[in-house]
Amino acid sequence: MIRAKAINHLGIAVKSIEAHHDYYVNTLGAVYESTEVVPDQKVRVGFYKVGAPGSEVRLELLEPTSDDSPISAFLEKRGEGLHHVAYTVDDIAQRLAELKAAGVRLIDETPRKGAHHTLIAFLHPKATAGILTELTEPQG
Ligand code: ZN
Repeated sequence: MIRAKAINHLGIAVKSIEAHHDYYVNTLGAVYESTEVVPDQKVRVGFYKVGAPGSEVRLELLEPTSDDSPISAFLEKRGEGLHHVAYTVDDIAQRLAELKAAGVRLIDETPRKGAHHTLIAFLHPKATAGILTELTEPQG
């Protein structure tokens, strides 16, 4: 079982972070944090936060930096919108082992480093009701 403790963040595919910045800050009321380039994923990520202190959910706007980025492929197929949901879990390695043993299709069989001092792993959308699903374990 995933045993989700909270929604950690939502990944949202966009053609341009700048083009949507005004919506997220001035219409939604999210707080802009920063933008980072993640070279091995071929994306720029714009981080925004919504919610009260202690129960914030982060929004990650994912903008492709090249035509062969996974986000470019997603945008071509599905257009802009929700790309993945990330849930906070305890002991991500154990969760992955349990899910694998239960026959759940995984993209990452072992955790890898994510943004903001986390370990992350993706589950296949065919195994998660059509939504690409990320497990996130915050590290100290
Ligand atoms: Zn994510």
